Order: sequence, then structure tokens, then C-alpha cells
Amino acid sequence: MEKESGWIKKSKEEQSLIYDFAERYKKFLNEAKTEREAATYISETLKRAGFSEDLSEEKVFKTYREKSVFALVKGKKPLTSGMNIIVSHIDTPRLDLKQNPLFEEVGLAMFRTHYYGGIKKYHWVAIPLSLHGVIVKVDGRKINLRIGEEDDDPVFAIDDLLPHLSRKTLDEKKLSEAPEAEKLTVLCGSIPLVGVEKDSVKAAILEILKNSYGIVEEDFVSAEIEVVPAFKAKDVGIDRSMIGAYGQDDRVCAYAMLEALISLDKPERSCLAIFTDKEEIGSEGDTAIRSSFLFMMIYEVLESMGLKPDDVTIKKALFSSRAISADVNGAVNPMYQDVHEKQNACYLGLGVCVEKFTGHGGKIGASEAHAEYIAEIRRIFDANQIIWQTGELGKVDLGGGGTVAKYLAMYGMNIVDCGTPVLSMHSPFEITSKLDVYETFRAYRAFYNS
Ligand code: MN
Ligand code: MN
Repeated sequence: MEKESGWIKKSKEEQSLIYDFAERYKKFLNEAKTEREAATYISETLKRAGFSEDLSEEKVFKTYREKSVFALVKGKKPLTSGMNIIVSHIDTPRLDLKQNPLFEEVGLAMFRTHYYGGIKKYHWVAIPLSLHGVIVKVDGRKINLRIGEEDDDPVFAIDDLLPHLSRKTLDEKKLSEAPEAEKLTVLCGSIPLVGVEKDSVKAAILEILKNSYGIVEEDFVSAEIEVVPAFKAKDVGIDRSMIGAYGQDDRVCAYAMLEALISLDKPERSCLAIFTDKEEIGSEGDTAIRSSFLFMMIYEVLESMGLKPDDVTIKKALFSSRAISADVNGAVNPMYQDVHEKQNACYLGLGVCVEKFTGHGGKIGASEAHAEYIAEIRRIFDANQIIWQTGELGKVDLGGGGTVAKYLAMYGMNIVDCGTPVLSMHSPFEITSKLDVYETFRAYRAFYNS
């Protein structure tokens, strides 16, 4: 059980494959900063790879509410004998604009936000931010918004309090309470509209929004606008061995499984990829893994194949399936090693991580993979020379976390957590190792082909 860097096991040729894969992955991260953008990128990539929305074809896909995607490559064996399923999530912690967001104070216009998922609020002040989302007009017209990503685009920011004045107000607070969520307001303008007496800067911003996008203040009520970091994915380190970017939990696994799926050519078992939404808030809601989405998709696939899509048939197909819950794991932080139990934690650069169970102290809320199934995964990975490690999220009394694994386990299938180690997880700039990203892709491809 030695812990040895994966890099020294790779030839020069393999290292260049790893670096090439990382370039394509960074492009995906830059284009897909929200769940809607990820769903669009994924469905367009699938189309280019020959996947069809006509479910009777061999390679098929379907998107749901522009936020989750289901893609299937039909295998040689019947679907009802079980599938190889990989599921990842494409939502990420962020700030959402409130329904009535715009206001003005001291001659500055700002948007109010409500954060989504597990963020550290202090991460979000004083960094460049971009706005992404849709505004749906009352007549159903949809206006897409994406400001802050092009080189000549403006960006947005949340004002932080200068150290000279923050001693009482912020510095003495607990880190988890500073700043208050209501203070996470996004600066968006400062020029007043001539001739308007009250809130003239806000009026000027509304004027620009009307002229540029045809939207009025009431339209924010039926909008979904997400505030995310404006910076791009970058290589990290003098050796360029790592990637720093927003949203790698869990788009790293989503990208790896997308690449794995499109590489398939008539596998033995049918291979299913589920890109799900709302994992970061507990898989609640109709686009999450807990909705009937999966069940309905399988129903429609069976129906399109002329098979009887009754309840028992669908449950049997799911019951006989085996799955990977593709989600990231927190790698050992070099400066906070004592939160990890280092013999069982995962490390950056040691390959894709297999996690037998999630949950917290006492395995509460865990979906635990069986020894037999882990042995099967070991056989598949070893046969394909995958560089992999095991992982457990933090010390027993300290750590913990959940994934979607338990929601697929409900159908009775074998499932195990397996994904990429990440540093600075849930921060605006998460860090992965290029080697681990590539081994995640190779691991998923090997699983699909098994
Ligand atoms: Mn995740
Ligand atoms: Mn997460």
C-alpha cells in the first residue's frame, strides 16, 4: 500500500497525452461555468459524436430542463440485463441573484444574492466575478446573459471592508459568520441617470439593461442569474502539473465520463451517463438524481426499442446494473494534514480515488460499496493499468460528506464512489492534478468497457 507519485509511472509519450487532455478539459471548464452551460456543452459534444435525441438509435441522449443530461450507448447485451452507469453532477457552489435583486446605496448600484451550496463566504469578496444565466420574459421568450468572460467584458465584484475599519465589524467574528450572507452584494454601476431624483444610478442600470437586453426590473422575478468567478482555468505550478479553476467539483468527473462515453464502440453492456443537477444542495428538486428523470428516460428508451416499459422491467434493469458515483474527494492539504487520517486519505497526483463509503462519523448517511464489488473494480482497474488510490474524507470524528451514490443504491444496484482528488475544494479556485484528471477518464472508460 505504498503511496508513490503517479507521474513516475508515466512515459514521456503518456505525459504528453495527459497534458493534451488537460488542455481540452480547461476549455470545457471555461465554457461551462453553470449547470445550464455544462448541459449545453455536453449535449453539443454528444451530437458531434453521433448521439441522437431519437431514442431508438444506438447512441442516444436527452437533456432535461437544460440542466441535466442522460446519455446511453446501447450494448450487445439487452438493456434489461443491466447497465454500466456513471453519474456525476454539473452544479457548483455559487451566488444566485435574488428575485428582486437591484438596489442603490451611496450612489452605487448593486445586486442582492443568495448563495447556493457550501461556500466559504469570505472567498467571494474582492475577486472578479461574472454573471451567467437566463431571463424568461412573461411571454416565454428567453434571454441568455453571459457578462464577464470575454477579454473586453466588464466584470463584477463584491466590496470588502478595508483592514483599517474591519477590526470590530469583521475581524473579531467567527470565520463562518463573516461576512454575513446579506453583505454579499454585487457591485454593478455608479453613473446616475440625469433628471431622476431617487435611485438614479439604479435607474441608469435599468436603462442599459432595457436597451441591451430588452429586460425590465420585473423580469428578474423569472430569471436565474448566477454569479461565478470571472477568471479562466489555468495551469498551476512551474512544472504545469496542476489545473486551477472554478467548478472542478464535479465538472472534472463530468468531463472525464463524457470523454469516456464518446470513446465507446459497441460495448458488451449498455453504458449510461447521467449528468445531474442540484447535488450541492442535497439532490433535491426535479433536475436532481432523486427525481423521476432517470426512471422516465429508461421508460422512453425501452418503449422506443419496442420493449414493454413496465415498472418491473425498469426496476429489473436498474437492479442488475452496476454503477460509479463519479464525484471528487478532498486531497490531503499539506498545511492541514491533521484533519486527515493519512493512511486512508487520498493525495494529489496518486491517481483516481476509490472511496468505499461516504457519510460522516459512524458511516451515517453512507452508501457503502460491498467488498465483492470493490474487488470487481480492482480487477477492472488493474487489468487496464489504471493509477488509482483509496480515499476517506477526513478523520472519523472530523470529516464527512455525501454524494449521489445512496440515491442510485436505492434501486439495489452495486455502486461505489470514484473520482478525482481536489485541493481547495468548494473554493473559487479548486486545484487538481493533470495526472489524476487523465486517470479518472481512463478509469471510467475501462469501467464502461468492462
Ligand atoms: Mn461533488
Ligand atoms: Mn461539492
